[in-house]
Amino acid sequence: MTEPIDVLHRPSCPVTLDCGGLELQGFSIGGLATYLMVPEWKLCFDMGECPIEAVRLSHVFLTHSHGDHARGLLRHFSLRRMLNIPPARYHVPDFLVQPLQNLAQAWCDLEGHRNRPEYIPDFVPLGKRDTIELNRQLRVSTFPVDHRVRSLGFTVQEIRKKLKPEFAGTPGHELGALKRQGVAIETETAQPRLTFIGDTTLRTLEKEPHCLDSDILVIETTFIMPDDVEMARPKGHLHLFELMDFLKADPDACRFQHIVLKHFSMKYTHGQIEAMVRRNTPDFLKDRVKILI
Ligand SMILES: [Zn+2]
Ligand SMILES: [Zn+2]
Repeated sequence: MTEPIDVLHRPSCPVTLDCGGLELQGFSIGGLATYLMVPEWKLCFDMGECPIEAVRLSHVFLTHSHGDHARGLLRHFSLRRMLNIPPARYHVPDFLVQPLQNLAQAWCDLEGHRNRPEYIPDFVPLGKRDTIELNRQLRVSTFPVDHRVRSLGFTVQEIRKKLKPEFAGTPGHELGALKRQGVAIETETAQPRLTFIGDTTLRTLEKEPHCLDSDILVIETTFIMPDDVEMARPKGHLHLFELMDFLKADPDACRFQHIVLKHFSMKYTHGQIEAMVRRNTPDFLKDRVKILI
C-alpha cells in the first residue's frame, strides 16, 4: 500500500452537521461507507454501515447497490427484529428488490433459519419518478441518477396545507363532510427541503436542475486533486473542480442554502479535503458549503 490511509475514518461514529436548524448525522468516505440520518424525519439515506443511532429510524432509502451504500441494510433489519422493534420501511430501487431478497435469504441459510419469512424484509419498490407520502408533512420523490450502476436520487418536500379563504369560519364537521365529498378545501405548498444524491457524475445535475432548488443539497465529490480530474467520470463519480465550475456558471440557479459534500476518496486525508474544498469554493458559496468527514 503506497497511498496514505487516514486511520481516523470511523464509519460507525456518525458526525453531526447543522443545516439551518435541521440536524444531519452521517458518515461518508468512498469505498468505505455512506449513510446520512435525519433524526427529525426518522429516516436514513443509504446504509453502508449501520451505526447504533440508525436503529431507531423507521425509513431507509437506498440509492444503489454498491456495498459501501447498502451493506448495513440487512443489519438494520436484523437489529430491529432482535430488539422487538417493528420492521422499518426499506425503500429501494425496484430492480433491487429481488437481489436484496436473495441476499436476505442467503443470510437466513447461513444462520440456519429455515422457512422463516419474517426474517426477510418487506422491501418497498421505487421507480425512477415515484412519490412516497411519509406522513402528512413529508413527501419523498425520486429521480434517476447517473452512476456506474442504476441509481436513484431523493428529494424530501415539506408539505404545508392551508384552508382556502372561502372556507374560513366553516365549522369542523361541515369541513369534514365537504372533504368526504371530494371538495378541495385546502391549498397545498410543497417546499423542497433536502435532495440526497448518492454516487453520481455531473450528468445528474445537468439533467435534473431541480436538485439545486432544495434548501439542502447533499452530493458527492469523490475526487479533489488535479491529477484525478480525468478519472472521475469514467468511474461514475464527480470531481470537486467539475462541480464548482458547474455551480459558478450560474450562481442564480444555486437556490440551496446548504450544500453538503461527501464520499471523498479514502486516499485523501482530512487536511487535504478541507484545504482543497476551501481553496476551490467560489466566494458566493463559501457560507453554504459543508463537508461530511
Ligand atoms: Zn460509493
Ligand atoms: Zn457507487
